[in-house]
Amino acid sequence: MLNIEQKDFFTRMVGGKMTSDIKKKDHPKSIEPLYDKNLTCLYCEKKFTSKQVRTNRIKLLGQDSDYCPHYEGENPIFYEAFICPHCGFAFTQSFNELTPGKREIIEKNYIQKLKEIPNYCGHRTWKEAIRAFNLAALSSYLKGENEAITGHLFLRIAWIYRYVDEKEKEERFLKKALEFYHEAYLKGGSNTTNISEYQLLYLMGDIYTRLDHYQEASKIFSQLFSDPDVPPKIRSRAIDTWNQYKENQQK
Ligand SMILES: [Zn+2]
Repeated sequence: MLNIEQKDFFTRMVGGKMTSDIKKKDHPKSIEPLYDKNLTCLYCEKKFTSKQVRTNRIKLLGQDSDYCPHYEGENPIFYEAFICPHCGFAFTQSFNELTPGKREIIEKNYIQKLKEIPNYCGHRTWKEAIRAFNLAALSSYLKGENEAITGHLFLRIAWIYRYVDEKEKEERFLKKALEFYHEAYLKGGSNTTNISEYQLLYLMGDIYTRLDHYQEASKIFSQLFSDPDVPPKIRSRAIDTWNQYKENQQK
């Protein structure tokens, strides 16, 4: 048997012949975990590539009550926001096309204010991932995406601070996410984001428990427990989260 280094060497030397002789799945470790995704900038319309994590190279170790995933190896969350290397515009797969009116707003308040255009097209550190999400949250806000989308971007920043154990910053971004979720909820959820009103409500309740706002959390969870239309998956998650919160409070 070849060890991994030898296999890599063999692949480089033999090139295409290797992959035709032996199926890729027999050598998962010799495949780079990141690949280039082809993208077209929503603002300048130029083409570029941004790294993504191969799904078959992801090992999910667990998930927190607010859906924050924990992975072994590369974290696909770090690569969700795309930054155009030509103009610096940030967007995600959930963004809609830019309308002419919004384009003007973006030019004045985003593009012209960028001190330099960052290049986040390659491998990202957690700090670069946070910077990318911050830019995406700004462009989401300026272009008037649904508030749930902006909220999601702030929630992801909070998750990254959780990964590196920066509690204070995590809470700061949980609050920002909550603010936007609240607004989205008041507007009646969103049919453009694949997120239901109940999911929004649950996320808001979960964030209140994390910020230890008992009264607000209790109001939301009792709403989730009494409404017969709450989907079973969300209801059972809500029960777990609420019980865990009460348990932690008693400690
Ligand atoms: Zn661009």
